[in-house]
Amino acid sequence: MIDQHKDIRDAVAKLCADFPPEYWRGLDRDRAYPEEFVGALTASGFLAALIPEEYGGAGLGLSAAAAILEEIHHQGANAGACHAQMYTMGTVLRHGSAAQKEAYLPGIAEGALRLQAFGVTEPAAGTDTTAIRTTARREGDHYIVNGQKIWTSRAEYSDLMVLLCRTTPVEDCAKKTDGLSVLLVDMRPVKDKSLTIRPIRTMMNHATTEVFFDDMEVPVENLVGEAGKGFRYVLSGMNAERILIAAECIGDAKWFLDKATAYARERKVFGRPIGQNQGIQFPIAKAYARMRAAELMLHRAIALYEAGENPGEEANMAKMLAAEASWEAGEACLQTHGGFGFAEEFDIERKYRETRLYQVAPISTNLILSYLSEHVLDMPRSY
Ligand SMILES: Cc1cc2nc3c(=O)[nH]c(=O)nc-3n(C[C@H](O)[C@H](O)[C@H](O)COP(=O)(O)OP(=O)(O)OC[C@H]3O[C@@H](n4cnc5c(N)ncnc54)[C@H](O)[C@@H]3O)c2cc1C
Repeated sequence: MIDQHKDIRDAVAKLCADFPPEYWRGLDRDRAYPEEFVGALTASGFLAALIPEEYGGAGLGLSAAAAILEEIHHQGANAGACHAQMYTMGTVLRHGSAAQKEAYLPGIAEGALRLQAFGVTEPAAGTDTTAIRTTARREGDHYIVNGQKIWTSRAEYSDLMVLLCRTTPVEDCAKKTDGLSVLLVDMRPVKDKSLTIRPIRTMMNHATTEVFFDDMEVPVENLVGEAGKGFRYVLSGMNAERILIAAECIGDAKWFLDKATAYARERKVFGRPIGQNQGIQFPIAKAYARMRAAELMLHRAIALYEAGENPGEEANMAKMLAAEASWEAGEACLQTHGGFGFAEEFDIERKYRETRLYQVAPISTNLILSYLSEHVLDMPRSY
């Protein structure tokens, strides 16, 4: 289980100590990519935690990966620059051919190749993934890709992209979830030619982009699994993704709670610590209880996942509850700090902006509630 990974957590905390708050503050100010941090995480092997040993990874389970990401966030750092590799790699691992795994996974494990980009969302389709318009048309031994993605994070800092596109027009499919395929795109030869990447400046430092495909050629051997089954392949990675993001939120919540309680103890106003006032204590205590409850759900989701079950319910609930808990902890922390909460040098306003994302991406709260309503509580589908 996740709390058994003390050695991993200690080692991650030690690594993070080399990247103090000033490092993250500077990157945030410049909207720059944490190259050195990602490099150190790769060199340490943590980013390859989930890659099987036969391909050069650590061959660990999801609980270890969750512990790594949680600890990064608990230390005040941010794994958003590289966490996708842990779950996008799973698409190749589960559905890729032996030749694809052999060709890519060892390079990813040793850090020679980066698989950080996951191109699913499109501007017109939004959450309705089956409505995507990016197409891949087969011509001889290549697919010709045309279309556009948005919010493709880390595309500028990745060699490879897992790309979802339509290979059969929706009107020719029995179900709208059919006819979608996953391509593993090597972006290096096509970048700035048939592939254009444009950064989007956002309220936090996330290296997200929009990407445009203009007759981009992808060799047919880069099709992952079978053509037309891509939607299922992408869905199959969702539980792991939800669990890993929930772990990051728990880490954020713990960081906010550490900061809030330390300040509440030391800051004196009216001649006594502000933490002596229940008006300061209670929001922090409430956020702590919410974090612990979300953490339990996360542990439950991980236990089921590692037992080979399909914890769709628990993974979704863990992600939603953890994202809400980190936000509540952020609120309590900011309020506890009064005016200083807004000062850059306290890092709270940065973490506050960063953790807000997880109520929207990679899946928004409403869609989790829709999932629970329909698939768990057996109410009619709302969309
Ligand atoms: C910083 C950032 C990084 C991201 N990185 C990636 C990435 O790497 N790869 C990628 O593919 N995507 C990425 N995304 C996209 C992200 O997954 C989407 O933003 C998210 O899934 C929400 O989709 P949308 O923005 O299109 O919102 P929309 O689908 O336009 O929805 C807008 C709002 O309406 C609500 N809504 C929509 N339909 C319903 C309904 N039926 N019932 C109730 N409410 C509904 C949603 O919950 C949301 O609150 C990223 C987004 C951001 C902001």
